[in-house]
Amino acid sequence: MIKENLNHILKEIPASVTLVAVSKTKPTSDIMEAYDQGHRVFGENKVQELTGKFEELPKDIEWHLIGHLQRNKVKYIAPFVSLIHAVDSLKLLKEINKQAAKNERVIDCLLQFHIAEEDTKFGLELKEAHALLISEEFLHMENVRVVGLMGMATFTDNQDQIRKEFKALKGYFELVKENHFKEDDYFNVLSMGMSGDYSIAIEEGSNMIRVGSKIFGERNYQH
Ligand SMILES: *Cc1c(COP(=O)(O)O)cnc(C)c1O
Repeated sequence: MIKENLNHILKEIPASVTLVAVSKTKPTSDIMEAYDQGHRVFGENKVQELTGKFEELPKDIEWHLIGHLQRNKVKYIAPFVSLIHAVDSLKLLKEINKQAAKNERVIDCLLQFHIAEEDTKFGLELKEAHALLISEEFLHMENVRVVGLMGMATFTDNQDQIRKEFKALKGYFELVKENHFKEDDYFNVLSMGMSGDYSIAIEEGSNMIRVGSKIFGERNYQH
């Protein structure tokens, strides 16, 4: 099933959209099924689970951390993580920069924006992102690179609501690009869309979707 699900989604989405296969809570054998189809980009939302799977699985996998990241855990993923999706503070970015330097790496990050109605979801407002990006501290960081934005829509059946939120995130992306990364080609990632809403997300300009249950099946517990 994993193979069929994966191929179905890959056929459906434009080649310009990166599919992050979200394997959280799933066994490494499930990941290997997708891997054997040629898939290499996987996302996890827990540091401990991510490091365990990294150690066990082939080293050409590109691992993304998609969930909320605590500062004291950055050190565990800094040696190998490819992209950190949910950066929502300068303090966190500082720690990523520090740990990346220790590993002689530059770590790519996305700023997470708050677009959902629920105030339980993490993320920055435009003003906060702006403040972060013009801060002296950020401008002196040499071991992190902000390559785009990430966001999660409200968990709802209301398609108009979801579309409106994705439209807003795309608008923030354009503004941040224009104001802070105009000449920087690397700032080009817009991570939005999950199993239930990736089609709308792509219509609204997403070029990176994070899809779990539609590839690997329902999870036993919700993260
Ligand atoms: C779990 C998760 C996903 C994938 O969710 P599905 O609905 O299973 O596709 C995407 N993004 C984040 C941040 C997640 O935690």
